[in-house]
Parts: sequence; C-alpha cells; structure tokens
Amino acid sequence: MAAVAYLDHAASTPMHAEVVEAMREFFDGCYANPTGAHRMAREARRAGDDARDILAEALGARPGEIVFCGSGTEADNLAVFGAAAGSGGTVVCSAIEHPAVLRPVEQLGGRVVGVDSAGMLDLDALAAALDGDVRLVSVMLANNENGVVWSLEEVAEVMARRAPGALLHTDAVQAFPWLDVAARAAPADLVSVSAHKFGGPKGVGALVVRDGVALQPQIVGGGQEAERRGGTPNVAGIVGMGRAAQITVARRAETVERVGRLRDRLADGLRAALEGVTESGVRPASGAGMPVDRSAKVAGSCHLCFEGIESEALLFLAERGGVYASAASSCASGAEHPSHVLAAMGYPRSLARGSLRLSLGAASSEADVETALAVLPPAVAQLRRAAA
Ligand code: PLP
Repeated sequence: MAAVAYLDHAASTPMHAEVVEAMREFFDGCYANPTGAHRMAREARRAGDDARDILAEALGARPGEIVFCGSGTEADNLAVFGAAAGSGGTVVCSAIEHPAVLRPVEQLGGRVVGVDSAGMLDLDALAAALDGDVRLVSVMLANNENGVVWSLEEVAEVMARRAPGALLHTDAVQAFPWLDVAARAAPADLVSVSAHKFGGPKGVGALVVRDGVALQPQIVGGGQEAERRGGTPNVAGIVGMGRAAQITVARRAETVERVGRLRDRLADGLRAALEGVTESGVRPASGAGMPVDRSAKVAGSCHLCFEGIESEALLFLAERGGVYASAASSCASGAEHPSHVLAAMGYPRSLARGSLRLSLGAASSEADVETALAVLPPAVAQLRRAAA
C-alpha cells in the first residue's frame, strides 16, 4: 500500500510490533485450550493470568475483577444489560455515548441525559434524571468523536445525592491510550476497554467488574471468566491486550506530550488555512496568544466541521490525497445520519454534515500532519467552489 497519512486512530490503531511478537506463540506453539489440565493448557492459562495482572494494574483493579470478552462493544453490553437484568431498576446514560451503550440503554427504555455545546455533561440534567429506581448510570470517560473527557468524580457526587444505590459504568475505550484510567475511573463500578484502540488486536475487550457488583452474564456456557462470560478465552488476543496495555502505560506521558503537539499543529493549521471552521470540544483561550483551549480533550483528537461541504465528498478527496480519516465515529461513517454527538451538542444539521474526525495515535508523525495540511484545505476549497 502506498504511504498514507493515517488519521483514523480512534477507529483502530496499529498493533505494536512487540504485541504481534508476544501473540505469535499462542497461535502456533502454545495453542491449547486454557481451561484444560495438561501442561500446554496450564501454560496458556498462565499467559492469560499474566495479562490479567497487567491489565488489572493498568485499570486500578484486582485481577479477579477483570472479565475478558470479545470487544469493547461486548464489554459495554455486558455492563448495561448485565447490571440491569433482574434488578427491576432503570438505566441512564449520556446522549453522546457510543452506540454500544446507547442502543442497550434505549432497548431497556432507559433515560438519556444531554450535553452542552462544548460536549460537557449537563450535571443538572443528570441530577434530574436520577432517583431511587436507577440501577445503572453509564457515562464515558472520553468521547470517540469530539475527544472530550469527563470527570467521573462529579458524576459520582451527583449519584451519591440522587441515586446512592446505583452503579456507575464508564466506557473508557477511547480514554485508555491517553489517560490514567486507573485514577480517573476509580469512582466507577464497571469499566470497559478495547485492545485495538491502544495497539492491541481487534476482537478483545475487557470489563472491570468491581468485587461485590452483581452482574448477570450475557453469554453463558462453560463458566469461563468466573461465570461472568462463557466461551473459550482468546488467549493470543488476551496476551496481546496485556502487552499493549503495558506499552501504553509505560509510554503514555511521552505519547500524550508528542501527539498533543502534533494535534495542535494540525488543528491550528487547518483553522488558519480556512474560514468557516468549527472545532468541537474546545473553549475560548484563556491566555493571550493561545488560539483555543483544548485541555478538555484527549491529545489525539482533532474534530472539525467545515461550513458548506459534505463530509462524504471531503473524505473522498482526502483519500485521493492520501489522508485517511472519518466523518463521525467509525461506525457511523458512511451512514447518511448526521452524528448523534454533534446533534446532542446542538450543532445545526447544515454544520454537522461537514464534520471530519482526524484522530492521531501513538504512531502518528509530523509527516502525517503535513500531508493533511497540504491536502485538506484545497479539498475543502474545491468543494465549496463546486457548491457555490
Ligand atoms: N466505545 C467507544 C467509545 C468506542 O469508540 C468504540 C469503538 O469505536 C467502542 C466502544 C466499541 O469497541 P469495539 O470496536 O472493540 O467493539
């Protein structure tokens, strides 16, 4: 494949070479089912347990609180459906959750809480949505479209006043590459992560289920994962997830610093090159000479709306110029519907339809940013001329 500026890391980010290497043995050497009794099975089990220890530490949990599963989507579904099942209580989430939370909450007839134009959770609306009937509140740590980070301390404080018996779930899938999830998710009873967002393989996720939290399994079978998720564990995937978590945590501070600078250069460069650009999840700058305040966002997130164009047409021209990005979240990209995140933030449809998510990752380089800065402004200008 020709060199491209891959700016879609929030959709999926490349696996670290060390992760691929760590997984290899579990495809062609140690291939036994880890639930077995013989030596090879015990080796596979040990490798999974080591990964469990690493992930637990990275998430501020005990090893026994980690439930490995098949994706971030499955972890979210397990949290929402598993907590609600048999409880008779209702579930509450924010309006900008990933569909992996939003759809289960809708299916359960739950309540949805709005956000403001900067993407911050409306804590008064949250308080109003809570009462003694609420079983679960699910709010994400970092959003997959606008990159905005929320404080779970604030959410937990509202819950303690209004629904003290409710559980708190956080979808930390987009947060883990950038934030100390162990610290930030400490108030949560349930925490979801997904390996392919931080240099691990696709098809492996995990849910932290704190000790004592009652959760009904959604996949039943051989009683794996301490009866919380049936199915033969994906040993190679779990090993890869553990290794990726280790690398991510070890390099996180440096990655955030370096990628944050690249993101700022990209966002500032596009804003300087074009009129009619709205950047989401930012606030007016507090200091003189600062363009905008992006401190509420994760370091890899650059999310812009270009007036007067359609994202799909822009994505086409971007790809032709070697820039890979997406319109909204990866799942919604290509769909006709405008982003539910931008709609909840009050963006008019005319602006939301010109949205572009450029997401950077640990592998992003200056060359990626320079390519995007060379390709995108003329592409937007061309589309605007054609529409005029
Ligand atoms: N939650 C968030 C915030 C996400 O961004 C994603 C993936 O885009 C998911 C959940 C789903 O994770 P997975 O792709 O592992 O199913």
